[in-house]
Amino acid sequence: MQMNPLESIIPPTQEIPIPKYDLDPEQEKQEILRHYRALLRGLRPKLKRGDRELVRIAFEMAADAHKTMRRKSGEPYILHPLAVAKICVEEIGLGVRSTICALLHDTVEDTDLTLEDLEREFGNEITKIVDGLTKISNVMDTNTSQQAENFKKILLTLTDDPRVILIKLADRLHNMRTLDFMKREKQLKIASETIWVYAPLAHRMGLYSIKTELEDLSMKYMEPEAYRDIAKKLSETKRERTRYINEFIRPLREKLDRSGFKFEIYGRPKSIHSIWNKIKKKGVAFEEVYDLFAIRVILDSSQEKEKEECWKVYSMITDEYTPSPERLRDWLSNPKSNGYEALHTTNGATGPLGRSANSYQTYE
Ligand code: MN
Repeated sequence: MQMNPLESIIPPTQEIPIPKYDLDPEQEKQEILRHYRALLRGLRPKLKRGDRELVRIAFEMAADAHKTMRRKSGEPYILHPLAVAKICVEEIGLGVRSTICALLHDTVEDTDLTLEDLEREFGNEITKIVDGLTKISNVMDTNTSQQAENFKKILLTLTDDPRVILIKLADRLHNMRTLDFMKREKQLKIASETIWVYAPLAHRMGLYSIKTELEDLSMKYMEPEAYRDIAKKLSETKRERTRYINEFIRPLREKLDRSGFKFEIYGRPKSIHSIWNKIKKKGVAFEEVYDLFAIRVILDSSQEKEKEECWKVYSMITDEYTPSPERLRDWLSNPKSNGYEALHTTNGATGPLGRSANSYQTYE
């Protein structure tokens, strides 16, 4: 594993934006409740008898335990666990038990609540997950030069209960989304940890859009000029790229429609981080890589037919766009260890990337 090369070149402190947060206590209470209700709305389809009560108890315990704490932005601290829980539900697809753990994830480390308190209220399963989350924080807090070693320790925990890792990733994603309020040194430390440890972890867990967002957010702090430059060029070329992607998809969509498959097809522009990597690796200009994009076809088919149908879609794509033979990846016959099953193919003389994926791994 490579070590983080930025450690030694951290630039001097930059000024922190002044927190703008001036709600009175009553408005603040309403704001907290608003976030809590939004969380419950996302969770509603998964609630079984008695669950709502458990989630409420977890929320009230966490809100009470963190009540004197604020985030760097000036917000009440409880908005952070609420946001982490919402990411778990809406962006990772986790359920009630994980929501409870996410609400409580910082209590044992940062407040007077103990594992015994959680055990008494929620039992062993939830307590073990919160314990795992607390331990990861401690491992990460020690020495950054031991990151490779720490990474292995995290992966060992993974075999225990993958929810620990998934909730930790949600925690990190929210911290990255709200990193503006941290000091420059802290931003760089967290961003480099994210790029070296958490983004690869998200990839391994099959959370591809979270992986991409973590990479982009890390780059925003570690390489601010390059980030702003590419982001600006991307927004200037957005219309042109969207039109190009739509035109690329149109013949495929027509064929798929005629075939009667149940499917979704969409194009995904490359992330800022991956464009930047290409520019660096190949020594080319933005203009030569910016129109690369991925197409994803998601098929809704029965278990017996999914393999066959997936290959049919593959052949429809390759009839339309010439594939480059050495770029076919078959994760249908050999699914990834995280359950990902798909065919990947790179097509076309201009180099667009076609991708046909038949399923996502979903977690509880
Ligand atoms: Mn946290």
